[in-house]
Amino acid sequence: MMAQLSEDCFATGGELLPLSDALALLEDRVLPISQVEKVPLEAANGRIVAKTVLAKNHVPPYSNSAVDGYAVYFEDLIPDQETNLPILGRIAAGLPMKGDMERGGALQVFTGAMLPDGTLDQGPDTVFMQEDCRFEGTNVILPDGIQRGANRRERGEDVTKGDAILQPGRRLRSMDLGLLAASGCTDVVVYKPLHVGLFSTGDEVREPGDTLGPGQIYDANRIVLRSMLSSLGCDVDDLGILADDPEETLKQIEKEAKSHDLLVSSGGASVGEEDHVRSVLDTLGRVDIWRIAIKPGRPLMLGTLRTESGPVPYLGLPGNPVAVIVTFIKFARPLILRLAGGKEQGPKTFPVRAGFRHNKKKNRREFIRCTLNPGHDEFLVANKSGRQGAGILSAVTLADGMVELPENLEYVESGQLVDFLPFRGLE
Ligand code: AMP
Ligand code: MG
Repeated sequence: MMAQLSEDCFATGGELLPLSDALALLEDRVLPISQVEKVPLEAANGRIVAKTVLAKNHVPPYSNSAVDGYAVYFEDLIPDQETNLPILGRIAAGLPMKGDMERGGALQVFTGAMLPDGTLDQGPDTVFMQEDCRFEGTNVILPDGIQRGANRRERGEDVTKGDAILQPGRRLRSMDLGLLAASGCTDVVVYKPLHVGLFSTGDEVREPGDTLGPGQIYDANRIVLRSMLSSLGCDVDDLGILADDPEETLKQIEKEAKSHDLLVSSGGASVGEEDHVRSVLDTLGRVDIWRIAIKPGRPLMLGTLRTESGPVPYLGLPGNPVAVIVTFIKFARPLILRLAGGKEQGPKTFPVRAGFRHNKKKNRREFIRCTLNPGHDEFLVANKSGRQGAGILSAVTLADGMVELPENLEYVESGQLVDFLPFRGLE
């Protein structure tokens, strides 16, 4: 059964919200709305786990050698001197020994070879590395000073059968698939990708490749959003450009709400006479304006559209391309991940030195597009990658990420430590 958002899940009083409060509200009110399905591991990369995954097996499934060398009983070693033991046999990975290992000898083993049971409860408990051994006829001479249990990997030391290895909300990475495979899992229950309908808005906005008339610009937002949404795991439906026409906007949005889990648009969200999305959302459902105290960033529209199958969320992003990118990364991304079933912590920042002086307004969070460069100490230095206007896309392209200046700050001195948010992983 699919979870349903409440119609007023985005209700706000329209007050200016600090980003952290806005995100906390989302956390509180937004549910995963996707259905779930079972997929084979081969198709699971990037998908979001919907049901706790339990290990089907111990990892490793049996105790084995971590090196090429000689397995012995620690109790057979003579303390504080070399020990000379006969070599009893040889076991390679995948070719276990039949029977138990006798006391008083050494067994040649290769990395990954299953260590046999023995006359003690445990079997041979210690492995010498090949490089540390000398040989005399069919005997091996073992140096002193080894610890009990050296170079042995215990059954289940990584994962115990039945362990919860992955929790719901986890977005699977390549590495996770290795853990799943090692634990004997062949498939995983994940959320279905969110089916997102994506619009641009504006009479001036044209498809790249069209001939531009006076006053027209190319659509820079849709291709960015389309790519970012796809990277997030959404199944994106490109719905083109909505003209600034109230009837057309109403017709389109009403139609597309029926066949998508979420609609996203850029532009048309202001209160200007040519911004129709807002009044259309008012007619078709409910819209709230979220004013988040960030720069760059403009008010966002968050709404729910009434459909026969329940409320469909609507996210209206700003029009200016840089504001689109910043609000997407900082706000839309966590919102969409949550709708899609994710429970990711936000991307992590790290400290760098500001390579610039900067004055800012108190009580809002500012994002400065920057490159990272080597400095004079252990910290990298962030330098502005160009003009910081909300329309300056080239400064975003040149940037490695953004310096994130918190609300309470009023100026930054050159050399001051600041938080850096890399773009890597957010593209
Ligand atoms: P709006 O919110 O519709 O008033 O748009 C704000 C600014 O962003 C205007 O300068 C628009 O021309 C510009 N803009 C809106 N949508 C796009 C787009 N898809 N690509 C590039 N610029 C856009
Ligand atoms: Mg517009």
